[in-house]
Amino acid sequence: MEEIKHFINGKDWTGNQHMDVVEPATGRPYARLPLGSQAEVEAAVTAAAAAFPAWAGLPAEQRAAPLLKMAELLRNRQEELAQMESRDSGKPLWLTRKVDIPRAARNLEFFATAIQHQQSEAHPMQEGLLNLTLRKPLGVVGCISPWNLPLYLFTWKIAPALAAGNTVVAKPSEITPYTAFVLGQIAREAGLPDGVLNILHGTGPEVGGPLVAHPQLAAISFTGGTATGKAIASVAAPMFKKLSLEMGGKNPNIIFDDADMEKALDSAVRSSFTNQGEICLCGSRIFIQENIYESFRDAFVARVKQLNVGAPEDPNSFMGALVSEHHLQKVLNYRQLALDEGGTMLCGDEPLSLPSTNAKGYFMRPTVFEGLGPACRINQEEVFGPLVTLQPFRDEAEALALANDSAYGLAAQLWTNDLGRAHRMSERLNTGIVWVNCWMVRDLRTPFGGMKHSGVGREGGWEALRFFTEPKNVCLNYSI
Ligand code: NAD
Repeated sequence: MEEIKHFINGKDWTGNQHMDVVEPATGRPYARLPLGSQAEVEAAVTAAAAAFPAWAGLPAEQRAAPLLKMAELLRNRQEELAQMESRDSGKPLWLTRKVDIPRAARNLEFFATAIQHQQSEAHPMQEGLLNLTLRKPLGVVGCISPWNLPLYLFTWKIAPALAAGNTVVAKPSEITPYTAFVLGQIAREAGLPDGVLNILHGTGPEVGGPLVAHPQLAAISFTGGTATGKAIASVAAPMFKKLSLEMGGKNPNIIFDDADMEKALDSAVRSSFTNQGEICLCGSRIFIQENIYESFRDAFVARVKQLNVGAPEDPNSFMGALVSEHHLQKVLNYRQLALDEGGTMLCGDEPLSLPSTNAKGYFMRPTVFEGLGPACRINQEEVFGPLVTLQPFRDEAEALALANDSAYGLAAQLWTNDLGRAHRMSERLNTGIVWVNCWMVRDLRTPFGGMKHSGVGREGGWEALRFFTEPKNVCLNYSI
């Protein structure tokens, strides 16, 4: 068994209590995770607080240097890290090679360079009076991330926090902790000063809870489920901590009859089932204009049936394993619920053909339902797995009403060649992100996040750097 350690004040820390980390594709434990508690939180926050003045006082390019070095070291170890991420999460190796690890390096590079271009504002008044708006780092901040894009989302928070001059106590998901553990080693090798980044492992309640409640933490940046976000907000808000919450989604994918059908079909398959459907941006409610409903449905289902589910290291596997036995069971329970609610399963129950080493892994076939109305639980609750529903709509007004009939508001997809409709719908969809004739096209400068139960605040670009800094207006009277 491999041994994962906390990273506190530049040193490895072990613990007395451990839990197993399981490889989802085989069901076998392969590493031991230390279960942190209040004591580790205290040590990490103390180290981060001690490191803050010197780190915050460095010129931006001197903070950028170790972050760029970390990105370089990540790229040097890209293949090894891609294998670790695939083993830890069950997702295909081609995906961690192509997306997860390159993007983690890119996050560090992006914010290490962005901070060197950051501008502050000045508002001159009449002669002799000038406002200067300074942007100061907050202090010690907490970054808490989920299991679906482990290193990708971990670095997406840590990079802007550090670049802006904060020191960080970060907690990856206990389900996929391995690459975060390696990131600590990489930070040390890159020369990041001790205490600037601290990485704690363990469960949400035992590590995340005390971290959120710690009085010295100025801000929490959280990505995960909506119920967890609510619990975090209930602790952090009365303490007046700054909060960024990126939470769940139930995203609509709307296909009009004038769309490019081939492209819409290709994209619908990808946006439904990439990463086993375990991306907050996946489109899980597919709305199809009624006059093309049957032809689109049949072509979509035919393509989904062709998708390979298999060993993560097999380059032909479009989908790997779901992240845990618990999560697989949750998705299967939703599949049963969809049947109980009267839905028709168009595909998803075909037998799996897996290598014997994967016989105990957490696999399921991509699953498509129809015949379920918008009020059904399956169309209202986040499943976060390879299960989507199809629903017909008449016209623009009905598509909009169906799409907006959700407690969530993260991302929407819109497939149409009518420019006016694309603008009208984009304006009226209650989501933080709209993709027109595309999906998952990401520019790191753009605001990223959701409305309603999907989130509070935005990540990405200047939004992230604004979140991790406090504006201070200084009004100068230089006429005396
Ligand atoms: P989760 O909420 O169970 O856990 C997320 C993180 O919070 C983990 O590190 C966990 O240990 C920690 N945590 C749990 N309880 C805590 C507590 N009481 N206090 C502090 N920390 C606590 O989410 P998950 O199952 O890991 O991830 C799946 C969810 O994440 C889905 O709902 C998905 O939509 C969401 N997600 C959202 C985005 C986005 O950008 N909006 C991106 C990815 C995933």
